[in-house]
Amino acid sequence: MAAKVNMSPKKNPMPCQQPAVRARNFDEVATGYDEAAALDEALRCLGCKAMPCVSGCPVNVHIPEFIAKIKEGDFEGAYQVISRSSSLPAVCGRVCPQETQCEARCVRGKNGEPVGIGRLERFVADWHNAHSTAAPITEAPNGHRVAVVGSGPSGLTCAGDLAKKGYEVTVFEALHTAGGVLVYGIPEFRLPKSIVQKEVDHLKAMGVKLETNMVIGKTLTVNELFAMGYEAVFIGSGAGLPNFMGIPGESLKGVYSANEFLTRSNLMKAYRTDPVTPVSKGGKVAVVGGGNVAMDAARTALRLGAEKVYIVYRRSMEELPARAEEVEHAMEEGIEFRLLTNPVEILGYFNCDDRRDERNGSVIGIKCQRMELGEPDERGRRRPVAIPGSEFILDVNTVVMAIGTSPNPLIKATTEGLEVNRRGGIIVEEATGATSKAGVYAGGDAVTGAATVISAMGAGKVAAKAIDEYLCSK
Ligand code: FAD
Ligand code: SF4
Ligand code: SF4
Repeated sequence: MAAKVNMSPKKNPMPCQQPAVRARNFDEVATGYDEAAALDEALRCLGCKAMPCVSGCPVNVHIPEFIAKIKEGDFEGAYQVISRSSSLPAVCGRVCPQETQCEARCVRGKNGEPVGIGRLERFVADWHNAHSTAAPITEAPNGHRVAVVGSGPSGLTCAGDLAKKGYEVTVFEALHTAGGVLVYGIPEFRLPKSIVQKEVDHLKAMGVKLETNMVIGKTLTVNELFAMGYEAVFIGSGAGLPNFMGIPGESLKGVYSANEFLTRSNLMKAYRTDPVTPVSKGGKVAVVGGGNVAMDAARTALRLGAEKVYIVYRRSMEELPARAEEVEHAMEEGIEFRLLTNPVEILGYFNCDDRRDERNGSVIGIKCQRMELGEPDERGRRRPVAIPGSEFILDVNTVVMAIGTSPNPLIKATTEGLEVNRRGGIIVEEATGATSKAGVYAGGDAVTGAATVISAMGAGKVAAKAIDEYLCSK
């Protein structure tokens, strides 16, 4: 008998908290499919032999195979298929930009919406986390020691893959909590921290040691790690150094980088009534930028109690780099988009006479200029051009800069022989993640600059395989 197929052109909708309710709490916005919705969505998959969706996934998750298991009701089997390629499915199912990756290649997308691959992946991972009690399986210890610098998705993946093969792995993390951007950047309402903690606990159960508050380059250098007996080092230190615009007023009180604003809220729990490190709450907030980070900062400001939140972006809606779903959610929650608008100065109020030091003043507004789109730049995006005489002032008392980040230069500065490119990214051999220094591998944002969770994970996987080959051949 032919298998049943669901030919609906639309994905099963993702249940979500109502906009007016969720805009004032930090609980997860999307609440996930139940079994009936997951089965109905799985039936939209045609199980294509050519599997175009798989080639759209940076780690080549066997998509038709895991969806076939969902159709059979074998959710644990589906999880096992995904986990052959991805070590963080509960994370990727939530935050992967599926619309430009796996789902962008799905044949169902030609005459309607693609199969909700990310939603199904999330369902399967959550089902596994709720039901499975199986202990992780690792090979017998092989006597080799590897150090991993940074506990973001690249470091966690590299550590997990090596631990499975019997390596003694220690992860050195600069912050007091493991998870990288997954814990300090992406807010709770998009990725609950308990999910990341589960992944970290899973690694610990595999024998991975975690040393927090260890800044490599300060507390210990890479060379000192080798001297301590580590035979290979993986650098997954991310791209946490925020960029600023270089306009007047950026040192005023009330101006934050998105990283600082989100870290204070996510990691230091600034939303509590007794926070250790407070952050501006309430009032009017302008977030400068148009990526996922800008959307996260704007939606966080709203949840912290802002009466008005603006996204200030110099291009138009068409060029906005954030995920479509995040933009839609931000708009539903009441965030106002000031497009084709570029800040030229942040204005301050000084309650003392010394205006030479901006740090004596507080933000009272942001002077902006209207823009229009001109000729395409080298990446093909139309260049924003200022309209003369179009300046206006937006009354705000907090400004959050979300205009990109770069890799921190600390590790390069303290590691002889480690080459970086002009943007500060560590130079690696693409197929292995090997750097210019013997025994040192790198991956994720530390190499590429700010990118995605799944690409960082993919890089961690590639490096783990290469480290295994390097140490086996020693
Ligand atoms: P990171 O996650 O940055 O982890 C690096 C870790 O290394 C950090 O914990 C850091 O503290 C530590 N470290 C740094 N220097 C040192 C040192 N010297 N010694 C020891 N430890 C060190 N991607 C998506 O795919 N989807 C999204 O929706 C998405 N949203 C995002 C939202 C925000 C707010 C941000 C900031 C990023 C977002 N990204 C998203 C990007 C994604 O999170 C990153 O590409 C990914 O986390 C990179 O992983 P990584 O392992 O390279 O580095
Ligand atoms: Fe799609 Fe990300 Fe899952 Fe790959 S890991 S199949 S890109 S959701
Ligand atoms: Fe299923 Fe779409 Fe992949 Fe075809 S392309 S196997 S329909 S997910």
